[in-house]
Amino acid sequence: ANNIRVGIVGYGNLGRGVEIAISKNPDLTLAGIFTRRDPKSLTPASKTPVYAYDEMSNFKDDMDVMILCGGSATDLPVMSPEIAGSFNIVDSFDNHSKIPDHFAAVNKAAEESGKVAVISVGWDPGLFSLNRLLGEIVLPQGDTFTFWGEGLSQGHSDAVRRIEGVKKAVQYTVPIEEVLQEAREGKGADLTSAQRHKRVCYVVADEKDQARIEQEIKTMPDYFAPYDTTVNFISEEEFNKNHTKMKHGGVVIRSGKTSEEHKETVEFSLNLDSNPEFTASVLVAYARAAFRLNQEGGKGAKTAFDIPFAYLTPKSHAQILKDLL
Ligand code: NDP
Repeated sequence: ANNIRVGIVGYGNLGRGVEIAISKNPDLTLAGIFTRRDPKSLTPASKTPVYAYDEMSNFKDDMDVMILCGGSATDLPVMSPEIAGSFNIVDSFDNHSKIPDHFAAVNKAAEESGKVAVISVGWDPGLFSLNRLLGEIVLPQGDTFTFWGEGLSQGHSDAVRRIEGVKKAVQYTVPIEEVLQEAREGKGADLTSAQRHKRVCYVVADEKDQARIEQEIKTMPDYFAPYDTTVNFISEEEFNKNHTKMKHGGVVIRSGKTSEEHKETVEFSLNLDSNPEFTASVLVAYARAAFRLNQEGGKGAKTAFDIPFAYLTPKSHAQILKDLL
């Protein structure tokens, strides 16, 4: 069978994750990597050719779908509509409040080009969104809870690293275990994110600076002040050994009642060693779906909710019928 030819746009953590994920999917071929940096400065492990972002339009006949791996803050709002004007695309846009605007912009471009553009897939938004909606569909009377972590927050780690005297630092967001247990009982639906999570920091710094650094972290407005925050000072060796993975994960819980006397709980949880590699694995499945939908004449922007499972799997329909049992 002919493989689906995939291009990667943007080669950061997520882009490298997509490169690995494609190698685990025999029906997909990585056909090229596009970057805004000097293509010669990148040396992909897979030896895939690297091209300049501006050359992309020359590859319209060579790429079946592009996986966009730029950042959500400033890259994807520009890149997704632009590239959907010529290619099927998938992105992981995760700026929750701006998703409707992003959808509208990408949809306009993809309707005009006749391509399929799957937006905002990954794990949150993405798999978590699917599980929140599934819970609400099955249990219309109930509450939905999302907990994030234990996971590394890039933004909070950066904030700690900016404090004077901090040599290295990471910040993990951790669900508060008792609150998580209560959610499984349907309790605590009105709690804020700060009441559901605590923050744990691991910092490398000279002893003379430690008391001040701890104080500065714990009183940092918005980032840490409203949270139960723990600061652990550790050696550089321990930091390098235990705190360089991009761990993440979380739990989606739907707790509801099917009748006055019967309570039901639905739970979906993720425990990830590598946030970007896992997110990339989701993007790659949606790339397959984008291409197939477009082959059938589909066009326009789609979300995770709009894509049937059968389009995500490389299995034949006969096989998935067997898998139902
Ligand atoms: P990075 O910062 O690693 O990469 C973003 C872009 O920056 C790259 O595409 C690359 O573009 C450029 N870049 C990367 N490294 C360098 C460098 N050394 N020097 C200069 N430029 C560089 O971000 P991530 O890959 O970690 O994350 C991308 C996005 O993925 C996030 O913004 C987030 O929105 C999303 N995400 C979504 C999730 C979900 O569940 N939906 C989960 C996790 C992430 P170029 O090659 O063109 O220079």
